[in-house]
Amino acid sequence: MQPSEQAAAAPNLGVLDRELCDCRACPRLVAWREEVGRVKRKSFADETYWARPIPGFGPADARLLIVGLAPAAHGGNRTGRMFTGDRSGDILVEALHALGLANQPTSVAADDGLELRGVRFTAPVHCAPPDNKPTPGERDTCRPWLVRELELMRPSVRAMVVLGAFGWQALFPAIAAAGCWHVPKPRPAFGHGTRVELGAADGGAGLAIHGCYHVSQQNTFTGRLTPQMLRDVIGAAASEAGL
Ligand code: SF4
Repeated sequence: MQPSEQAAAAPNLGVLDRELCDCRACPRLVAWREEVGRVKRKSFADETYWARPIPGFGPADARLLIVGLAPAAHGGNRTGRMFTGDRSGDILVEALHALGLANQPTSVAADDGLELRGVRFTAPVHCAPPDNKPTPGERDTCRPWLVRELELMRPSVRAMVVLGAFGWQALFPAIAAAGCWHVPKPRPAFGHGTRVELGAADGGAGLAIHGCYHVSQQNTFTGRLTPQMLRDVIGAAASEAGL
């Protein structure tokens, strides 16, 4: 079954997350995630890689959604949990902990006891891509999973932080397809610190979307994104979400 049919039929996030883990709709990404899991990085040679799609992580009634790009080959693709087991996850979870939105400052393994408070992670592409670059076709094939996630989270979600331009551009078509909020035309451009407010299309609450540079090492090692900048954006979005 294709993601478009399977995701649409999921009655809740638990089912959606479970079914997503069996998805094989993108041949290039399936081959890559499994090859990375076989070859492994030397430092993780004794570990069994997850090597499957990575579902969202966090409570189903989260008020704040953090949208990334795609799982990292030796991070989420290894540990089986989004933003877990690499420097990007460390920086993100450290910021959430500092803001009282996570119970611990580290994210190292799927069984490390991490709990997010009112926050959920997701991504527009759920399998690790070569060079962290999914193709437009892979992004579009994966979209129904995100669309259904947005529909199911509609009652609670009030704000989003989008990490990087890829996630930003991928999110608006998913929001439009979910049909819960109005998407401005032309679509707003990505920028760090950009904030866009979307009115409800269904009579419910609106949605505030915040842009933030991605927590990649490329940005954090060079100081393009500092821990304080990250905390400022997430803190503002969390406050709007009532957290
Ligand atoms: Fe399925 Fe998405 Fe992975 Fe493609 S990227 S195989 S649609 S989970």
